[in-house]
Amino acid sequence: MTLGSDFPWNIALSERPPAVVPSDAGVVRVGLALGLRAIDALVADGSDVGPVKYCLLHHRLLVPVEPGSVHRWRAAHSDCVPAPRSWGCDASGYRGCSGLWVTRPGIPLIEATAAEALHDALSRTRASLSSALSTPYPRHRQVCRA
Ligand SMILES: [Zn+2]
Repeated sequence: MTLGSDFPWNIALSERPPAVVPSDAGVVRVGLALGLRAIDALVADGSDVGPVKYCLLHHRLLVPVEPGSVHRWRAAHSDCVPAPRSWGCDASGYRGCSGLWVTRPGIPLIEATAAEALHDALSRTRASLSSALSTPYPRHRQVCRA
């Protein structure tokens, strides 16, 4: 699986989230492969996507969502924690965490991704990934009729 986004992003050169992110934001933490696809799905849908931090070392994605989301978040694919003081990609504080904040181009910046939309996109993306994995290989075998 290739990691990447189909959309352009601006890099925010900072260890801290962009200032627009509410200090009491919730933070959804998810694996990079699932998270990137879900974020791309949101962008493709035309949904607002706020700043995102990705960590290539630990393959994690951190997505700030609106305040008040932590206690509502129930998902097998990810968790949602209060905004940490240090923005390592895991609550246990991985050492050497190297991540970058990225934002979608546009003015003004979106403060945070909508938790409900993100939850939905993660669920849909995970379902499509797992059904793709469980599909017998020759399902789409092309037959040359020439
Ligand atoms: Zn990390």
